[in-house]
Amino acid sequence: MKITNVEALLCDGGWWPWIFIKVQTDEGIVGYGECSDNRVNPYGILGCVEDLKPLLVGSDPFAVEALYWQMFRLTRPNLGGVVQKAIAGIEIALWDIKAKALGVTVSELFGGPIRDKIRVYWSHCGTYRALYPDMVGSMPLRSLGDIAELGAEVVERGYTALKTNMVVPGEPASTIWSADGNVTTETCRSIEKLLGTFRDAVGDTVDIALDLNFNFRADGNIRIARLVEQFDLMWLELDCYDPVALLQVKNAARTPICSGESLYTMRQYKPFLDAHAVDVAMVDVAWNGLSESRRIAALADICETPVAPHNYYSHLSTLLSAHFCAAVPNLKILEVDVDSVPWRDDLLTEPLEIKDGYLTLPKKPGLGADLNEAEVRKRPWVPKADPLKLRRVRGA
Ligand SMILES: [Mg+2]
Repeated sequence: MKITNVEALLCDGGWWPWIFIKVQTDEGIVGYGECSDNRVNPYGILGCVEDLKPLLVGSDPFAVEALYWQMFRLTRPNLGGVVQKAIAGIEIALWDIKAKALGVTVSELFGGPIRDKIRVYWSHCGTYRALYPDMVGSMPLRSLGDIAELGAEVVERGYTALKTNMVVPGEPASTIWSADGNVTTETCRSIEKLLGTFRDAVGDTVDIALDLNFNFRADGNIRIARLVEQFDLMWLELDCYDPVALLQVKNAARTPICSGESLYTMRQYKPFLDAHAVDVAMVDVAWNGLSESRRIAALADICETPVAPHNYYSHLSTLLSAHFCAAVPNLKILEVDVDSVPWRDDLLTEPLEIKDGYLTLPKKPGLGADLNEAEVRKRPWVPKADPLKLRRVRGA
């Protein structure tokens, strides 16, 4: 079998593009991957895919590891970022081809599955309803009463865990986004109200996580970590490129700390895991690729650290992340966005099965579903104005 074409497809995801990789072969088997970027560099990934294409066309798609390392060596001076995303999307599509050709699932290629049901959490719970209620087709979050109703919905729909951001209900609702990295008392009170309302609404049987993203520095993250101890969180999540600063936060907090979603390859995870700077390592499978993510999970495992995939894209990413979850021993839980644009589920040829807070691992060969290309091509990505202006944010 030979690769005949490699292509990136950009699809409108509402407020951002979803990026899919399609790899074609001379035997008619097509593999799909996803490596959606967080809003601002889709054409960077597109360009990297074009740069890598001459290396791939004419090659045997079964040689997944060989091709991965060839792509890696070729681009090594540009480690991480959009380059690794492009490599990852291609690598995932190659695994999809190989699994389909052999008539097995992707996780079976990795000796799995270890598990065929994967616990998931409702991510960006309230965040998208605050920022994009029209796009996700939800009622606006006008008050804490609306947050309480959302919490009741999480329970009613069977989820056993949720993750939210610094959502501030109002007319319109907003999220806190700090440019200067400083925590204010107003921010603290707002977080307390949000988490207190969610906790009262969901009771003690649903786990809650809060994601602060890159907003604050160590001092602010410590202040919030101490503040949220009263809510007994599943984890407090934050992004930080310095393992010592992260360890400082972890050591100061009694709440488990989750981080790592913006790291690439074992090389970038190693200092964080060596330092035991996180309680839960977040790994973006769509950005690292399936093999590299499994290597990161193995590194985390020998440091007694569980992993949780970062997954806030289309459900093709949910599927590829699910096969990672099925193949690693140290899984915590899988992220899933429940609120999205209404056409997201139409982009897959098979529906996802999520029931009672668990995703059933699909059994069809490959990733378990194909990209519905007709639906993808119906909705090409058109760059929006200023991506930051799409958000309603509070703070400097
Ligand atoms: Mg995060």
